[in-house]
Amino acid sequence: MRLTVIGTGYLGLTHAVCMADLGHQVLAIDVDPDKITKAARGEVPFFEPGLEPLLRKSLEAGRLGFTSSYEEIARFGEAHFLCVGTPQDDGDGGADLRYVHDAADALAAHLSSRCLIVGKSTVPVGTARHVLARVRQAAPAADQVEVAWNPEFLREGFAVQDSLRPDRLVFGVTSAWAEGLLREIYAQPLAAGVPGLVMDLETAELVKVSANAFLATKISFINAMAEVCEAAGADVVRLAEALSHDERIGRRSLVPGLGFGGGCLPKDIRAFRATAMSLGVESVVSLLGEVDAINRGRRVRVADLARQAAGGSLAGKRVAVLGVAFKPNSDDIRDSPSLDVCDRLMREGALVSAHDPVAMAAAARARPDLRFARTAAEAAAGADVVLHLTEWPEYRAIEPAVLGRVVSRRIIIDARCALDAGLWRAAGWTVLMLGQ
Ligand code: NAD
Repeated sequence: MRLTVIGTGYLGLTHAVCMADLGHQVLAIDVDPDKITKAARGEVPFFEPGLEPLLRKSLEAGRLGFTSSYEEIARFGEAHFLCVGTPQDDGDGGADLRYVHDAADALAAHLSSRCLIVGKSTVPVGTARHVLARVRQAAPAADQVEVAWNPEFLREGFAVQDSLRPDRLVFGVTSAWAEGLLREIYAQPLAAGVPGLVMDLETAELVKVSANAFLATKISFINAMAEVCEAAGADVVRLAEALSHDERIGRRSLVPGLGFGGGCLPKDIRAFRATAMSLGVESVVSLLGEVDAINRGRRVRVADLARQAAGGSLAGKRVAVLGVAFKPNSDDIRDSPSLDVCDRLMREGALVSAHDPVAMAAAARARPDLRFARTAAEAAAGADVVLHLTEWPEYRAIEPAVLGRVVSRRIIIDARCALDAGLWRAAGWTVLMLGQ
């Protein structure tokens, strides 16, 4: 099929490449000319394992192209995937839909025959119907244009496998024709047994935001338990492990620590909270407000522990930070919990030296005030306290005795509860963990 992808960020570029890999002809557009130039050269401007080889393969096969012309994509596609950003609004914390509206307007102006616009961006309930009315009013093809919502659940770091073989495909549609088109587009994963769930537009929009709300709640739940464990003298890591054997609870996302960040969960729960407020659903407003507050509190707690470890004041103290990406396997630093902690420490006068295996270039661009080291050992040189803030496998492989030789004091705060504390203690380190 002939498909287009609008917006080539983390979601859109991955989607374009994976659709081409499924055998479709794909043309992608972005308003950022740099992204288009790089992608057309076979370069992925962010860290995503496996994406670049697949991009090159699709370019060489002639199944994927890039353009900056809306006229061209309108002519090209039977279905147009909307993958632009929906960041947090500065005002009420709701979603800023400016990019969705701009893209829909730019496309609509050139739509002169029957086609389907498929939203993949994460949006507040009601957006799809608004986009439908908007494009029908502006498009020369008017009522021949349909809108579907097909929310995306990919995880950065696993984006390729999640796109090619998702847990489920959600199709929010208003007609059998739209459903048929989506079934054709996703024929391969559907034939491989991926469940295809068909529903109305509003439910499809809500599936995505409620999935993220649930995951955020699960993370904040175990972090609230960490607070209880600290107050009661218990151990949240053992608690989480014991809970996770109950199949109704499960292991995934039940990991205590510094909490969630990134370009999705924080802004999505705030946007959902703003939606619930406008719908008058008080229970969700207070639930998500608490989930967010618990999560933000983790960052404060780590800064408190660092101050404590530094002897009551951070002024002039050397702090090594291991990991700045919001999670391992990604160079995404949007709403990075680690960078938030770095800010707090620096505001108190700490001399912070940070390291990350892949996110340093992105972090250095965004945070020129922060000092970065080429290796974990370089970051730790002369440190009064070491903070483990992103759980990269590289940091679990560190020899505690070797790192111990370069620091000034052997104190590490494992804010991700991921290190082998026994090993570090055996090498003479004091190990502080959240929830212990
Ligand atoms: P992003 O900021 O990386 O990418 C958005 C892209 O859209 C940018 O390249 C931007 O230049 C482009 N853009 C903006 N306006 C445009 C326009 N009018 N025309 C064409 N391009 C335009 O964001 P992202 O992380 O890819 O997220 C996109 C959407 O997908 C968001 O709604 C997000 O919540 C959702 N989502 C993201 C992920 C993820 O893991 N990143 C997963 C699931 C869903």
